[in-house]
Amino acid sequence: MAEILDGKQLAKKIRKDLKKEVKILKEKGIEPKLAVIMVGDNSSSEVYVKNKSFACQKVGIAFEEFFLDKSATEKELLDLIEQLNADQTIHGILLQSPVPKAIDINKAFRTILPEKDVDGFHPMNVGNLVIGEDCFISCTPYGVMKLLEEYKIPVEGKNAVILGRSNIVGKPMVQCLLAQNATITVCHSKTKEIENIVKNADIVISAIGKPHFVTSEMIKEGAVIVDVGINRQSDGSIVGDVEFESVNQKASYITPVPGGVGPMTIAMLLTNVVKAAKIQSK
Ligand code: NAP
Repeated sequence: MAEILDGKQLAKKIRKDLKKEVKILKEKGIEPKLAVIMVGDNSSSEVYVKNKSFACQKVGIAFEEFFLDKSATEKELLDLIEQLNADQTIHGILLQSPVPKAIDINKAFRTILPEKDVDGFHPMNVGNLVIGEDCFISCTPYGVMKLLEEYKIPVEGKNAVILGRSNIVGKPMVQCLLAQNATITVCHSKTKEIENIVKNADIVISAIGKPHFVTSEMIKEGAVIVDVGINRQSDGSIVGDVEFESVNQKASYITPVPGGVGPMTIAMLLTNVVKAAKIQSK
């Protein structure tokens, strides 16, 4: 049976440390603050934003939500971002995706000041991650790396297979693992014979959003399995991309869903907000 990579527990530990840091910052007159923008109604986004707000509260980070109607224009969104960029009491800005199709989300991400881009989506942060400079790292890959580090899972020289190549998970995950000297293969919807690729992996990171995609037959004995997927079932429950019960029997480590990568993503967001507050107060 695999050892559980307990993201919930590690996130709790990270929040405890952050709470102390926030207290020290506040004593110096700096109150870290996160602004979250939502455009249009989306029930999943509302849950995510609520969770972020709750997590901020737990560590003492101030939080403010900005809602734009689904009919909002791109200009209205960019104007709001500019206003938040200029507001010195706000250290981090997060634009909750998805946004209505009429809005170019990459343009919106580019408008957020890189030093307030706590999601790590601005091209400047993405580029700095690629060249190994200090930057804001996208929260999910950052959280995955923290989990691997916490459980002292060796990455150097290992074959890592990433399922999914999105800008927010798959691609920054490549850079994070590469920086730790892994050898990486990225699979996507056009990849042929994924099973044979996954079979060679020491570490599998699945971020495709397909329930039960990764089965025990696909993985190598003793592989480390990180399940980023969040898939809502018809009964309202949430499952990952990995067939947990069977894969658990063959893997050496595995993340549960929920309680694995999800809490870590939020913990790293909080970490980035505190970092942003420190940078901006210098
Ligand atoms: P996304 O933008 O939809 O990207 C999905 C990726 O999976 C794409 O690269 C796609 O390939 C690939 N893919 C889809 N079907 C595939 C298949 N059958 N075989 C191989 N590759 C396939 O998704 P995302 O935003 O990265 O999110 C992925 C999953 O992670 C979702 O379930 C999401 O809810 C979850 N998520 C979780 C967290 C967390 O905190 N735990 C954070 C972010 C996302 P193409 O590029 O070829 O289309």
